[in-house]
Amino acid sequence: MRIVVSVIGLAFVALSLYGCATRKPFSKSEFITLETTGYCKCQKCCGWKRNLLMQPVYAYGPQKGQKKKIGETASGTKAKPGRTIAADTNVFPFGTKMKIPGYGWGVVEDRGGAIKGGKIDLFFRTHQQALEWGRKTLTVEVVR
Ligand SMILES: [Zn+2]
Repeated sequence: MRIVVSVIGLAFVALSLYGCATRKPFSKSEFITLETTGYCKCQKCCGWKRNLLMQPVYAYGPQKGQKKKIGETASGTKAKPGRTIAADTNVFPFGTKMKIPGYGWGVVEDRGGAIKGGKIDLFFRTHQQALEWGRKTLTVEVVR
């Protein structure tokens, strides 16, 4: 009987050690050089127009003609200046955090037709601010 108990005890210890070793590692930062541009919620940046009923609709792409909610991201959140980033979600899934020099910490919440691979688009309050950001190649801290 005593042997059985100690065997169970050993198995328990082994299991908890195993559990520890397979624990998910803490998320780590990576530094990646990305091409950054700016955008806002305007028609020019987000590819929408008004239809005959003055409703905002997609101007082109697979959803052309369908109603569009202005200022809503592809992940369904409200786009926020200083937070919302559009990225290629095959590379950087929704929820990926990024620290962009000159912009601050943001979160991938949106997508864009021209935003592929090592390109990201930063959301700004006004079109003017987006234009002023221009196009910058920066080393970005990425936390997945
Ligand atoms: Zn714009």
